[in-house]
Amino acid sequence: MPVDLITYKQILESLGSVVLVAVSKTKPNSDIEALYAAGQRDFGENYVQELVDKQASLPEDIRWHFIGHLQSNKVKYIASFVHLIHGIDSIKLLQEVNKQAIKANRVIDCLLQMHIAQEETKFGLDEEELNNILDQLHAFPHVRVRGLMGMASFTENQEQVKMEFSLLKHYFDTAKAKLASPEFDTLSMGMSGDYTLAIEQGSTLVRIGSLLFGARQYQ
Ligand SMILES: *Cc1c(COP(=O)(O)O)cnc(C)c1O
Repeated sequence: MPVDLITYKQILESLGSVVLVAVSKTKPNSDIEALYAAGQRDFGENYVQELVDKQASLPEDIRWHFIGHLQSNKVKYIASFVHLIHGIDSIKLLQEVNKQAIKANRVIDCLLQMHIAQEETKFGLDEEELNNILDQLHAFPHVRVRGLMGMASFTENQEQVKMEFSLLKHYFDTAKAKLASPEFDTLSMGMSGDYTLAIEQGSTLVRIGSLLFGARQYQ
């Protein structure tokens, strides 16, 4: 299926000031180029190798978001160019991002990933782990924590999803008050199936894949 530019424009209009990250994982460069030609600059990828390959062959002004589970030993491959890492879920990973950011002579923007879903399998921090990391941020001057990210349960139950997004917004507000930093301004929540609900609950950035690019062949 080709990229759906009509849906793209409709989504953009409905978002207002909320940032759209087009999730292009598993999709060919030609799909990304089609959305790029329509003006899209923020793209999200889940796999390090795929991101590295795409970054090397696509326009330089694309802002690449890493939205997958990032292994510490792979940070070095994306540190020189990544725009925002959404999935920081441990001190160890934060430490490695800081180290690679120093090597790349830059400050890397990151989001801390919270566990809000019912599924045990999903990654993320609980509230205590979040506070523990927030207390140690001064040790990582080459990392700029811009906010939080989370994924709601995969369920038809809208009330459940709404409750989870509302909890994430609560974590976000509490962390923002604690840090008292104007740079802590990004709440990444909402995907194709639940982005409207996410925006109602205070999302500032949505990550949308299948609505724009069609269903994926593999995850
Ligand atoms: C794949 C993925 C998305 C996009 O999912 P869609 O349902 O296709 O919009 C968003 N966020 C993360 C973390 C993902 O892995």
